[in-house]
Amino acid sequence: MSVNLRIGNGYDIHQLVRDRPLILGGIKISHELGLLGHSDADVLTHAIMDAMLGALSLGDIGHYFPPTDPQWAGADSLLLLAQVNQLIQERGWQVSNLDSVIVAERPKLKPHIQAMRDRLAEVLKLAPDQIGIKATTNEKLGPVGREEGIAAYTVALLERQGS
Ligand code: MG
Repeated sequence: MSVNLRIGNGYDIHQLVRDRPLILGGIKISHELGLLGHSDADVLTHAIMDAMLGALSLGDIGHYFPPTDPQWAGADSLLLLAQVNQLIQERGWQVSNLDSVIVAERPKLKPHIQAMRDRLAEVLKLAPDQIGIKATTNEKLGPVGREEGIAAYTVALLERQGS
């Protein structure tokens, strides 16, 4: 009997710095700090990609989009996400659902969650109700609590196409 479901998890964290945009789930959020990284540093989208790749044991995004490659400097992470989606579809799989948590002390993310779900659903050609996003603070504890960075966690469930 062949397995028709696969699960993966992804984690990412990026530093918060001045003079960078804050982009989460493809949505630009107004804030005095933004995330530092080689690409647009969209930490949520990076966690989602790693969860999708992880579900099929395909490694991580660093393998496909190395930070040493100038090609990915300032890259729109949603374009990378579309490529990862294509990769799993070529192997005969599709996303059944995603569940993510963003951990950020500030700003308040709740007003932006629906826009992130809509945007990610558009890129992944899914319904927004297949994309769960939650936001929490770190209760002022640790580097995330001190607003030195923002972290994201994702669990992805993939199903075999046509199953
Ligand atoms: Mg990253």
